[in-house]
Amino acid sequence: MEFSQEFISAAYIIAALLFIFSLAGLSKQETAQTGNWYGIVGMAIALLATIADERVSSVGVIFVAMAIGAFIGLRLARKVEMTQMPELVAILHSFVGLAAVLVGYNSYFEATHVVNNELAQLAITVIDPKAQIAMNIHLVEVFLGVFIGAVTFTGSVVAFGKLRGIINSSALMLPHRHKMNLAAGVISFILMIVFVQNGGGNMPLFLMTIIALVFGWHLVASIGGADMPVVVSMLNSYSGWAAAAAGFMLSNDLLIVTGALVGSSGAILSYIMCKAMNRSFISVIAGGFGTNVEVAADVDYGEHIETNAESVADLLKNAKSVIITPGYGMAVAQAQYPVYEMTQKLIEKGIKVRFGIHPVAGRLPGHMNVLLAEAKVPYDIVLGMDEINDDFEETDVVLVIGANDTVNPAAAEDPTSPIAGMPVLEVWKAKNVVVFKRSMNTGYAGVQNPLFFKENTQMLFGDAKDSVEKIFKAL
Ligand code: NDP
Repeated sequence: MEFSQEFISAAYIIAALLFIFSLAGLSKQETAQTGNWYGIVGMAIALLATIADERVSSVGVIFVAMAIGAFIGLRLARKVEMTQMPELVAILHSFVGLAAVLVGYNSYFEATHVVNNELAQLAITVIDPKAQIAMNIHLVEVFLGVFIGAVTFTGSVVAFGKLRGIINSSALMLPHRHKMNLAAGVISFILMIVFVQNGGGNMPLFLMTIIALVFGWHLVASIGGADMPVVVSMLNSYSGWAAAAAGFMLSNDLLIVTGALVGSSGAILSYIMCKAMNRSFISVIAGGFGTNVEVAADVDYGEHIETNAESVADLLKNAKSVIITPGYGMAVAQAQYPVYEMTQKLIEKGIKVRFGIHPVAGRLPGHMNVLLAEAKVPYDIVLGMDEINDDFEETDVVLVIGANDTVNPAAAEDPTSPIAGMPVLEVWKAKNVVVFKRSMNTGYAGVQNPLFFKENTQMLFGDAKDSVEKIFKAL
């Protein structure tokens, strides 16, 4: 069945509104599920409207492509572990980038096909200057779309490699890297002017694509260590702009709106991440943070104290207030369920238990909130860093479950530390701190953590899930 353009436009407006409601819903834990549904319904309407568009000739091909995509998507979503989510997000962003490049090339070759026809060229330049302007605008759209898409593509592939551990997560520090980035930008801009002035041209487009691919790769390769959260949200934003650019090329209003929504929400998230790490966006893009990935072996931090599950259980029984600060290790161990069981047990004993969440804990914005929500931890005992940081002094026991960089006092106390200036959960101010981890290894930023050597800190070595289960039994 085919529908008129008016009907399709109306469907697109409804879908766009549902996407906006979806984003609004997703901004709070309590309404996140409803937000998700708005998004699903919006996307279903968008897909149906696109297929029903009278201009779409090959519905069969679309169905086959959708079936293959749905099959792969479902399999991936079922298989993927929460800890692999950031990698999945990164690789999905790369697809958006690649799609924008392909759409750009396709719509360029289609347009050239028309312009190459001499009569059409004559009609555009002599008879109708408006058509000439429209053609120029289209060429700019193509050029920018391909540029943003290519940067997003290689940038996301490098981010995927870094998050997966295939590529070294430290920052690549090539000499004159800022000059190279600047040169890439300036040359691409000149190529765009040449491209538009000549009414197109394969050479400038190909050249710019290669520059943009290398630029995207270099941009993310030179950002390292603890700055990765900003990279993930930045690429999220880029993928949105790439989609919006594709929307302009395809004259698809919904794609423009959706792309702009993703682009701007990604930009806002990047800003929040930067604020959480006390870094300016420009300095993150300029790269170099977390460069000293080797542990400073010559610094004597002193001895660490080891403990066991039974002693921790005793410590907890005698406490009045407890704060749990989870990190990436809790996600790896999938310890959120036993952690909540232990929490319930402690609350039953009249102990005040709360969770303190650092904005960049884990490997994904909101990672810890998702894990705790999965285990059905009530939202009112889950607090953000700013809400809980002043309470550590009056806390009897802090359980640091698989967190490392986000509780590193060096960020506050050592101006020479690569993570200096990043706000952290000030757990060391509590009376007792228990750190759950498997070894003395560093966290994601590769920086040693003086917390482990403080007098009021005890190390509970082992897999976080096993340790928490043992404590639960002992309680
Ligand atoms: P970290 O990555 O700093 O440290 C995690 C700790 O968990 C490690 O020291 C590890 O020690 C321990 N661990 C790993 N597996 C287990 C296990 N099975 N049981 C017990 N412990 C385990 O975690 P944080 O959450 O504190 O910090 C997040 C870091 O990741 C920050 O540097 C942040 O910038 C970065 N990042 C964050 C992103 C985001 O969007 N949130 C995205 C990309 C990076 P051991 O090996 O000894 O067990």
